[in-house]
Amino acid sequence: MSITGIKGMNDILPEEVATWQFLEQTARRIFSLYGCQEIRVPVVEKTELFCRSIGETTDIVEKEMYTFSDKSDHSLTLRPEGTAPVMRSFIQHKLYNQDSVSKLYYMGPMFRYERPQKGRYRQFHQIGAEIIGLDDPRIDAQVLAMLDHYFAAVGIQDVSLQINSLGCPQCRPGYRQQLIDFLQQRLDGLCEDCQRRYSSNPLRVLDCKAKGCKEITADAPSVLDHLCAGCDSHFNAVQQHLQDLSVPFAINNRMVRGLDYYTKTTFEMVTGNLGAQNAVAAGGRYDGLVEELGGPALPGIGFAMGVERLVLLLGDAGRKNPVPQLFLAALGERAQKACFLVLNQLQKQGIRAEMDLSGKSLKAQMRRADKLGSLYTLVLGDNELDSGEAELKKMADGSQSAVTLERLSETLKGRLDADSESSL
Ligand code: ATP
Ligand code: MG
Repeated sequence: MSITGIKGMNDILPEEVATWQFLEQTARRIFSLYGCQEIRVPVVEKTELFCRSIGETTDIVEKEMYTFSDKSDHSLTLRPEGTAPVMRSFIQHKLYNQDSVSKLYYMGPMFRYERPQKGRYRQFHQIGAEIIGLDDPRIDAQVLAMLDHYFAAVGIQDVSLQINSLGCPQCRPGYRQQLIDFLQQRLDGLCEDCQRRYSSNPLRVLDCKAKGCKEITADAPSVLDHLCAGCDSHFNAVQQHLQDLSVPFAINNRMVRGLDYYTKTTFEMVTGNLGAQNAVAAGGRYDGLVEELGGPALPGIGFAMGVERLVLLLGDAGRKNPVPQLFLAALGERAQKACFLVLNQLQKQGIRAEMDLSGKSLKAQMRRADKLGSLYTLVLGDNELDSGEAELKKMADGSQSAVTLERLSETLKGRLDADSESSL
């Protein structure tokens, strides 16, 4: 029996990979406009890092982590998210000494032991950004403007931004207690999960997808009515700046996020097109996290986008792999040898060139050129080699024109440029 991959962990095959590269390249391009630099951290960390940052009573830490002991009996965990590892690295390398503000981005696989379904996998990918060192509400708005810019740049339109504020250590405990009191009187109607967690993680109940929990929490106290003066004015300022920057948003006072480290502004980009998996990007402020992890008391804000969900949303609008620009077809043994050399020269000159190396007939070579979607073909035989001239055929319309073999790459580049201009 052949070996298959692990449930919920997907291969990204060549036909899909162009869309992935497009999403990654666009992130690099857009994020760098806002001053973000890439950071690459390992996929495995000490388990303690995630317990301390994400929170012991969150879904992720309670049941979704890939945790194992290595050969020295150290408890390690495949990263379920990117913020904690990036903060760990930021603190370990004292990046705060290099600059008072650090703007970082990352991309790569994350791991959560979840029930696999459309848009939810056990190995999935995130592209995320973290801005550390600024607590001005303008930076919240700027991060959201960058996210909005990214979605526009990749051409995903049917998403909307929802924002909320989760308060801070001054005001959240009071709200939390009010919510616990509210839930305690209505325990019977809550789902089993929420009955268990309403006192340890009451905010999570607001986010529960179970019908009963939704109904009961419909008139639960709102976190926004319990913000302290500082959090309230921060949240108002964020909204004002978003309006100034023309970033559309809606307030969702029930959005709580599944990680404990969030404070003040939290947000999600949601879509109606992915069923229950409606969040394509999510994030927020985490003003206590760096200090909690042993670093200086620096504020931070960040987000992560789920790449698989972006790919699903792009659908047919995704990108295709590049096709060959020229297929060289050889007629006879002498031409085979010549083509082999010409092919190599063309590739070195920056042209995507292909030929057949399996001894196919001319007809079969042309079929292959067609199958590969090559933009041009050139047939070389003894006649062409003797005269130094051949017919360059444009596959889109079958038109042919004579080229001298010596000037093949220049001529071809000129044609390709003209083609791409006329298609603009
Ligand atoms: P969800 O509510 O969908 O479970 P989450 O709150 O657990 O999301 P985050 O931890 O904030 O998600 O991760 C940010 C983004 O990463 C999500 O908005 C989503 O697009 C993506 N994501 C999270 N978990 C998965 C997964 N198991 N498979 C694929 N993408 C995921
Ligand atoms: Mg989740």
